[in-house]
Amino acid sequence: MAEKRDYYEVLGVAKTATADEIKSAYRKLAMKYHPDRNPNNPDAKEKFTEISEAYEVLSNPEKRQRYDQFGHQGVNFGPGGFDFGRDFSHFQDVDLNDILGSIFGGMGGGGFGDLFGGGRRQRRQADPNAPQRGEDMTFRLDIDFDEAIFGSERTLDLTLPAQCPDCGGSGAAAGSKRVTCRTCGGHGVVIGGSGFFQVRQTCPTCGGEGSVIEKPCRKCRGTGHVTAPQKISLKIPAGVDSGSRLRLAGKGAGGLRGGPNGDLYVLLGVRESDIFERDGLDLGVDIPVSPVTAALGGTVSVPTPAGEAQLKIPAGTPNGKIFRLRGKGVPSLRGGSPGDLDARIVFEVPANLDRKQREALESFQKLTTGSTFPEAQSFANRTRVFFAHRDKLVK
Ligand SMILES: [Zn+2]
Ligand SMILES: [Zn+2]
Repeated sequence: MAEKRDYYEVLGVAKTATADEIKSAYRKLAMKYHPDRNPNNPDAKEKFTEISEAYEVLSNPEKRQRYDQFGHQGVNFGPGGFDFGRDFSHFQDVDLNDILGSIFGGMGGGGFGDLFGGGRRQRRQADPNAPQRGEDMTFRLDIDFDEAIFGSERTLDLTLPAQCPDCGGSGAAAGSKRVTCRTCGGHGVVIGGSGFFQVRQTCPTCGGEGSVIEKPCRKCRGTGHVTAPQKISLKIPAGVDSGSRLRLAGKGAGGLRGGPNGDLYVLLGVRESDIFERDGLDLGVDIPVSPVTAALGGTVSVPTPAGEAQLKIPAGTPNGKIFRLRGKGVPSLRGGSPGDLDARIVFEVPANLDRKQREALESFQKLTTGSTFPEAQSFANRTRVFFAHRDKLVK
């Protein structure tokens, strides 16, 4: 397997980058490499996955700290977008916080997570037959721009590892159970090599688990899991963005030996709009406007998430002028105030003129003077000075 690139390198930011810098770097790259923008380009898709993964970790302060401390090991992702890997949060919740809670009088609750994030050792259970919580899993889902700003409901068809119904997730056939591995005595490692050189190796009998099943369940071949297609309904709240993560408690992988299910995280990617540009909660939109309307002043229609707004533009509005419509942007996910919408005036040159229209423009043309187009007049003056200098300097 190829060596994973450093997440900071992937996003092109410094290790000291602020949350905003990370977000902005991700947004730029995500726009560039979004699969919708790069059809028939598998490299772009791979790149998009890579930057999304980097962003998922670096945008989450807990994960970022874990990554800084332990590298990819601390935040491992499995292949294919699913996170089969070591999301350490669950055994922190189950084991360490319980332990620390009893020591520190209930100070637990996730606060200690970062300190113990890398401890793979805790994964092995003291009692191999004790219930074990299922893995947390991450699923990447691309949604439309409109769904992101208005919210929507989706049904996900996922195939997830579920607790095996035959053995209840024990992996052991009826009448048998999990017992301490005799090869390694439950340590999960054996000392190999010969003579002077001794090396610690993962126990070949139990694969590092420290325990083995006497007689594996036939249905799940001893894994305790079966793959089960599931329909999961997902409510996407209004205001989500690329990189937003939704948590579905208990919808992850099935627990083992009667343990609870893990959680399912849905990592969202938002497709671009063909009308709006989005930056967080703010929106931008280019409004094609007739230069005649801009010259005379008038009203133009501006699409906003809340409906069509009528924008009055004054006489003499220049091309490129931006009007900010406060509170007309994306609704805030956390119930705060919505973003703003910047409507940019973009002149459209009249096209497909019929005879009468052309004549009208021609008679207008005849009536124009230098002050009708002051910028053109000023430009002409500057140009004249330039050429006067040229005549002096160029012999
Ligand atoms: Zn089974
Ligand atoms: Zn063993």
